[in-house]
Amino acid sequence: MPVRTAGPQESEARRRRRVRGILEALKARYPDPQIPLTHRSSFELLIATILSAQCTDETVNRVTPQLFRRFPGPQALAQADLAVVEELIRPTGFFRQKARAIVECSRRLVAEHGGEVPPDMEALVRLPGVGRKTANVLFAAAEIERWPGWPHTRSRPDGTGIVVDTHVTRLSRRLSLTEEVEAEAIERDLMRLVPPEEWSRFSLRLIYFGREVCTARDPRCATCPLRRLCPSAPYEGFPPWMVSAARGAARRGRRTR
Ligand code: SF4
Repeated sequence: MPVRTAGPQESEARRRRRVRGILEALKARYPDPQIPLTHRSSFELLIATILSAQCTDETVNRVTPQLFRRFPGPQALAQADLAVVEELIRPTGFFRQKARAIVECSRRLVAEHGGEVPPDMEALVRLPGVGRKTANVLFAAAEIERWPGWPHTRSRPDGTGIVVDTHVTRLSRRLSLTEEVEAEAIERDLMRLVPPEEWSRFSLRLIYFGREVCTARDPRCATCPLRRLCPSAPYEGFPPWMVSAARGAARRGRRTR
């Protein structure tokens, strides 16, 4: 039976049943999702993730080989000339802020963590340019790629969670897994609905699905494998609860200006 009345009024039990179906469908489509940012170490993934803000992974992947050839680790990047770094990462946008962030981040890694990326949420989010999303990307990669010294499946430390980027935000709201608009609140809702052992791969699967099927401007609802589980399907991906939330956020933004 297609779900027609879900949305903000849906019961928790019904939502949980839908989530199980969504997890299964995504798992079938993406059995072994990998981190899309090219990297050879936790340091490279940390820097690549900082560079990926407001930028596509493809662009970051084009830029990082030259960056890491020139500055192969935190010690080298910590001593880098800012102008050289800016030139190397220019295609990623906001290159001046990003250059400062990755050089300062490298300095802090060297000064405070012996040149290692700390496998610790609190320490990570204290680094320049690093927020919960970036830290969660690292924990997800550590689990999927089984990094030594990092927590793996079922042993994620308290405080870690689910990567919430623009795709995860959009899909979580279209699929009515949350009514929230802020990343941390969305993450809390998802963590309540999705089993911890699924967190890492679930966000990656949503990101791939958001790029291929449930895109921002042209969601392919007619052929979508989640359409029977998706309350936004009858609205072609643009349900009224998302439109009204967007208006509310815009109004709040106007009031605080
Ligand atoms: S049915 Fe449409 S809105 Fe729902 S997940 Fe699929 S593409 Fe996205």
